[in-house]
Amino acid sequence: MIIANWKMNGSKEEVKNWIDIFNDHVEYENQSGCIFCPPSCFLDNANEIISSNNIQLNLGSQDLDPDADNPSTGGISGKMLKDLGCDYVLIGHSERRMYFNEHEDVLLQKLTSAALNNLKIVYCVGETKEQREQGMAIEAIKIQLRALKGLPVNLISVAYEPIWSIGKGITPSLDSIHEMHQIIKDELKSILNTEENILVSYGGSVSAENAVSISLLNSVDGLLIGGASLNPESFSKVVNNITIQD
Ligand code: PEP
Repeated sequence: MIIANWKMNGSKEEVKNWIDIFNDHVEYENQSGCIFCPPSCFLDNANEIISSNNIQLNLGSQDLDPDADNPSTGGISGKMLKDLGCDYVLIGHSERRMYFNEHEDVLLQKLTSAALNNLKIVYCVGETKEQREQGMAIEAIKIQLRALKGLPVNLISVAYEPIWSIGKGITPSLDSIHEMHQIIKDELKSILNTEENILVSYGGSVSAENAVSISLLNSVDGLLIGGASLNPESFSKVVNNITIQD
């Protein structure tokens, strides 16, 4: 699972260019392990290009709005995302938590809506620099994971994204990533009451240089890539470098 999170970047032209280059550089059989998450205004356009060229790239949304009985101006529901060709949705990205004030109550509603609409969820968790320095990182992540209780196991994966690493060009040590992923996997078994291995991806300053060593950790099931996913050559290089190792 290699996820490209474009955040609030791009244009229709860049979407077309990105998908074309991805298709040229990444072998057909390796494309289906990738999830492209452009801004929602480009999802329809991306879906059209992907399906008309028979590209095996998955489409994901960076967010969704909860199903609501009240009128919700500007909202985009899970049903609409499905209609736009999305199979995946990111929920709880730290930028949404921080800048859009998404706290547990709204995240729970989003998770429920995603599940009701059969969207595969990539639930993002991560600690702040302060929490890490105070030895509170594990506790902070366990609290975030609790929101997943009761959701269908088959729709859930998690992305561990230390907030202090996102977009900063710094990453935790490999040992530290491995340790945190292991803790998350164990916690998920208990929260979801399952023995299944829930996929946990790593996100935070992943680049063409560090992607292989991170992905080789056996507790790392995927990568969530922000900045380095914007350039289609860099993203394809990450995908190809990783698939060569498999
Ligand atoms: C992200 O947007 O989730 C992310 C991990 O960004 P970056 O790769 O730029 O750190």
